Amino acid sequence: MRLVLVGPPGSGKGTQAKMLVRRFGLRHIGTGDILRDAFRRGNSTDKRLEPVIRDGVMASDDLVNELVGELFASIDRPDAYVLDGYPRTLAQAVWFDRRMSELGREPQAVVQLCVEDEEVVRRLSGRHVCPACGHVYHADDCPPKVTGFCDHDGEMLIQRPDDREEVIRSRLRLYHTNTESLVARYRANGLLKVIPSVGEIEGIHAMIVTHLTGRS
Ligand SMILES: [Zn+2]
Repeated sequence: MRLVLVGPPGSGKGTQAKMLVRRFGLRHIGTGDILRDAFRRGNSTDKRLEPVIRDGVMASDDLVNELVGELFASIDRPDAYVLDGYPRTLAQAVWFDRRMSELGREPQAVVQLCVEDEEVVRRLSGRHVCPACGHVYHADDCPPKVTGFCDHDGEMLIQRPDDREEVIRSRLRLYHTNTESLVARYRANGLLKVIPSVGEIEGIHAMIVTHLTGRS
């Protein structure tokens, strides 16, 4: 099975990808992992990777494509995969589909996890992290016993810069801009399935599985 997951930040893509890995024995390919792996290997892309890894600058389409190309050029290239966070633009999708068809490894399904923008903001901006033990709390969903302090060590909780509302809204704008044409491409070729990513994680997983097994 070869699968692409598309969804805004906070849609649970990573969680669903991990569950699909366990269920179907797929290789999980997340963009963050691809970038960090390449950086660790220390190859010719080093100079271009530095600002991406260190300062969180968005990697260019060419750079990400190149790294994905390297991954699929290697001897242990994945037969069965779930991609999470790539392709994220139309240019990446066009490149990826062409390259995969050369290798006989085209994606068989594209699942878009849909969440309303306001729900994404609620999910992410409500998160607070303990700087000491790393535990993540949520103001509505799993609050600490004492507001603002970690249950385990009493440390004062902090909000990650990425979880600030204005940062989330700007990431959402970028997501919508990039995703519109990407999703249109996969809708046109019949690969796209839209699944609402609300409610229980297991229920969402079951919907994805039903869709995937129903078509094979
Ligand atoms: Zn703690």
